[in-house]
Amino acid sequence: MNILILGSGGREHALAWAIRQNPKCDRLFVAPGNAGMEPLARLADLDILSGPAVIGFCEENAIDLVVIGPEAPLAAGVADDLRAAGILAFGPSKAAAMLEASKSFTKEVCDACGAPTAAWARFDAAGPARDYIRAQGAPIVIKADGLAAGKGVTVAMTEAEAIAAVDDAFGGAFGDAGAEVVIEEFMAGEEASFFILCDGTDCLPIGTAQDHKRVGDGDTGPNTGGMGAYSPAPVLTQEIQDAVMAEIVRPTVAEMARRGTPFQGVLYAGLMIEDGRARLVEYNVRFGDPECQVLMMRLGAQALDLILACAEGRLGETSVTWADDHALTVVLAASGYPSAYEKGSEIRGLDALPEDSSHMVFHAGTARRDGVLVATGGRVLAATGRGATLAEAHGRAYALADAIDWPGGFYRRDIGWRAL
Ligand code: ATP
Repeated sequence: MNILILGSGGREHALAWAIRQNPKCDRLFVAPGNAGMEPLARLADLDILSGPAVIGFCEENAIDLVVIGPEAPLAAGVADDLRAAGILAFGPSKAAAMLEASKSFTKEVCDACGAPTAAWARFDAAGPARDYIRAQGAPIVIKADGLAAGKGVTVAMTEAEAIAAVDDAFGGAFGDAGAEVVIEEFMAGEEASFFILCDGTDCLPIGTAQDHKRVGDGDTGPNTGGMGAYSPAPVLTQEIQDAVMAEIVRPTVAEMARRGTPFQGVLYAGLMIEDGRARLVEYNVRFGDPECQVLMMRLGAQALDLILACAEGRLGETSVTWADDHALTVVLAASGYPSAYEKGSEIRGLDALPEDSSHMVFHAGTARRDGVLVATGGRVLAATGRGATLAEAHGRAYALADAIDWPGGFYRRDIGWRAL
C-alpha cells in the first residue's frame, strides 16, 4: 500500500522509520518532512492544513492511508475531509480532537463518564475567578482553555501567582485561547504518559513513557517541547494501566461515541500518579514528540499493522507483540533553545553512526543545503537507543549523541534519571 505521513518533526521521522520496515508499505511519502526522512520516503511540498490539498495529493499518488502526525491538521478537520473523500486516515475528527483543543471540554467528558481528574471550575471573567482562587487557596492550577502551545498553564504555589495568571489570561496573553479559564485543584505525584489506540469502539494500549520538559539538567530552567523521553515508564505498573483503561480511557471512548463523535486515532493520556492511583491531567489526540520516538523504536514494523487496524476499525481483533525491551531518546537542540536560537549551523558525523533496531538518530529540524546537513529548528535531532534494560538503552542513546559533531547544539546529560 501507499502511505502519506503528515508532519516534519522527530515524531514523523520515527513513524516513517517504523512504517518503512513493514513489507505492507510500498511507496511512502512525508509532507513536508525533513532531511532525515529522505532515505525512507519521498518528501512532498504540500499545505497539510488544507483538506483539498491533501486529498488532491492522495488522488495523484494513489495513497491508501494517511497518518496525521501533528495536532494542527487534526484541529483543521483534515481527517474528516479525508474520510469524506473515502481515503483511510489515522487521526481523530475535528470534533473528537476537542479532547486536546479545549480543556473544559475534556473536563466535561470526564465528569460525564466519571473519570478521575482534578476538581475544576470554568470562568469567563476575572472577578469570579479571583474570588474562587481566594476561596480555594494555593497551590492551585490556572489554565487557558484553548491551545496555547504548552504556555497557557500556571501551576501557582501562591494565591498572588494564581491571580496574576488569571489577570494575564483575561488580559489577552494567550489570545482567544485565554478567553475562558479553567481553574483546577493541584494534584501532587509523579507524571507519566500512556498511549492508547482507539478505533471509535475498541482500545489497545501501545505503551507508556515519561518525558523531560525542562531545558536543563535536574529538571531546571524553562519548559520546552520535550528534551528526552524513555519507555516504558516504571511508575505505570500493569495494575495502574489496567485501572486507567477501566476508569479513564474506556469510559472516555464510550462517552465520545455516545455523543456521536467517536474518537479514532491515538489517545495520549497525561496522568498524575500518587499512592498507586492515577488521575487524568490532560489528553492529547496525537503521539507526543519525543515520546513517539521511543514508542516506535519499541514497536518497530508492527506499528503499521496497529495503525492500519485502528484506521480500519479492527482493533478488537488486534494485539501488540511486546519484546521485554526499553528505549530512551535524547533531544539535541540548537544553542539558545527554547528562547531565540540560531538556524543554519552545520551538523557533521551522522553518516558514521549505526542505524539499526537498537540505534537511530531521528531528525526533528534539519535540511540539506548544498550537500551539507544544517539545523533548521529549535529541537533538531533525537538520539535514540533501545536495549534489554533502560541502562543499556541509555548507554546507546548517549553514545550516539556524544558522537554527533554539532558545536551549535546542546543536550541534557540526565535523561531517564528518575527511572535509572
Ligand atoms: P503541554 O503542552 O505542556 O502538555 P498543556 O498546555 O496541554 O501543556 P497541561 O498538560 O494540562 O497543559 O498542563 C501542563 C503541565 O502542568 C502538566 O504536564 C503538569 O505538569 C502541570 N499540571 C497541569 N494540571 C495540573 C494539576 N491539576 N495539578 C498539578 N500539575 C498540573
